[in-house]
Amino acid sequence: MKFTGALKKMATMHKSPVRYAMSLGEDLLTVNQLINKEISIQFKHKHICACGKEVDQVYRANFCRDCFFNNPAAGDAIFRPELSKAHLGIADRDLEFEKAYQLQPHVVYLAISSGVKVGVTRQGQKLHRWMDQGASSAIVLAETSNRFEAGQIEVALKDHISDKTNWRRMLKNEIADKDLLKEKTAMSAKLPEDLKPFLSADDEIFTFTYPVENYPAKVASINLSKTDFFTGNLAGIKGQYLIFDQGQVFNVRSHEGFVVDFDVR
Ligand SMILES: [Zn+2]
Repeated sequence: MKFTGALKKMATMHKSPVRYAMSLGEDLLTVNQLINKEISIQFKHKHICACGKEVDQVYRANFCRDCFFNNPAAGDAIFRPELSKAHLGIADRDLEFEKAYQLQPHVVYLAISSGVKVGVTRQGQKLHRWMDQGASSAIVLAETSNRFEAGQIEVALKDHISDKTNWRRMLKNEIADKDLLKEKTAMSAKLPEDLKPFLSADDEIFTFTYPVENYPAKVASINLSKTDFFTGNLAGIKGQYLIFDQGQVFNVRSHEGFVVDFDVR
C-alpha cells in the first residue's frame, strides 16, 4: 500500500502503550499497526510549509522563507518562552495571534525521557508534549497564567537542570532512575521567591509506555535531506520516532512538510 503526502507530526493518544496516527495526503495511518511491517520512505524533493505553500527549501521548524521571517507561528516566543511579550501588549509579529497563544495557562514540568529535564508547554498540550518527547514519566512543577511566566521559571532552573532530551538515550530506553517527586521538591527550593507562588500542588506522576518490543543498542538517524530513500522493518515507535529493526530511527516531526511516498508491505 502506497501513501503519498507531506509528513506531519504524529498524533498521539495516551493509552498503554501510546497510540500513534499519521496523516498522509487524504489517509490516516494507525502507525501501531505497522509494527513488524516493511516500510519504504521515498522523499520527493518537495516541501509543503504549514502555510500550504510548496517550496524547494525550508528553514527552522520546516517553515518556508516567508513564514520563517513573518509568520507569528515561527516567532521567537514559540521557541523561547521567556521572550514572550503579549502580556505587555507588545507585538512581535502579530499581537492577536501572540495573545491567543501566549496568554493561556502554561505549565513548567519535569520529565524523564533519558535524564530529568525541565520544559514549558501549554496546559492543554502537556500529555501530547510528553509523548512527543518520548518521556517515560512527567510531573507538573508550576502552573502559570501565561507563557512569559512559565519561561521565567524555566530560565531560573536552567543552571540546575537540563532543558534538552538526549534522544539517543531515550531511543535506547536508557532511563535515569529518578524520583520525580524528590526532583520537584529539589527544584522548587531553587526557585527565586517571586516565582514560588506558581508552584503546583498537583503531584500526580504521569507515566507513558511505548509500542516498542526491542529497543536498539545503537541508533543511527535517517535524514531525508541526505538520503532520499529508506527501507526497513518497523520495530517500534517512541516519541516522534519510528524505530527500525537495524537501529535506524526516523524523526517524523523533524521531517514535517517533506513530501514522501510512504510504502507499507
Ligand atoms: Zn510558509
